Amino acid sequence: MSEIVNPRPSYGKKMCVSCQADVEDKTAFPIKEDRIIRGLRAIKMRLGIAQMNKLFVCESCVPKHAERRRSFERTMLFASVFAGFVVLLLLYSTISSGRFDAWVVISAFVVALFALLLSLFRYAPAIESGSFQPSKPPPPAPVPEPEEPEERPETAAKKKPAYKPKKKR
Ligand SMILES: [Zn+2]
Repeated sequence: MSEIVNPRPSYGKKMCVSCQADVEDKTAFPIKEDRIIRGLRAIKMRLGIAQMNKLFVCESCVPKHAERRRSFERTMLFASVFAGFVVLLLLYSTISSGRFDAWVVISAFVVALFALLLSLFRYAPAIESGSFQPSKPPPPAPVPEPEEPEERPETAAKKKPAYKPKKKR
């Protein structure tokens, strides 16, 4: 009797990132493995606690998840702007004061990094693009290009003849 039923037994289960349920036989949308997920997985593998689950969002969690994702994107945007602003402000004040203070520069980067790390607490991964459009109306039909003649008769007539009628001397 063969025990090998699952061809990839080491590769975890299909799990919803929102409700942690097994979505093996549910409608679910795959999660995009972005840098943050790969980073977390790398850390977990090093610690030996990686589960290697395949990440999904199940159908019933999609509205909730989409809201979390939007919130995260807003937070991340705000944190990035804030971090950039803090760094620029502190660098500017250091430069304009005429003396370079390493501590000011370091603390500027620490504050900026901290702002970005804080926004990670709201992290919600993106749903794989193409598999699902979260509650967005379908994009308007592309406007057909005005005047795109397939082949105008004159263009066809202007086509180069097979032979060369003129010969340069
Ligand atoms: Zn779920």
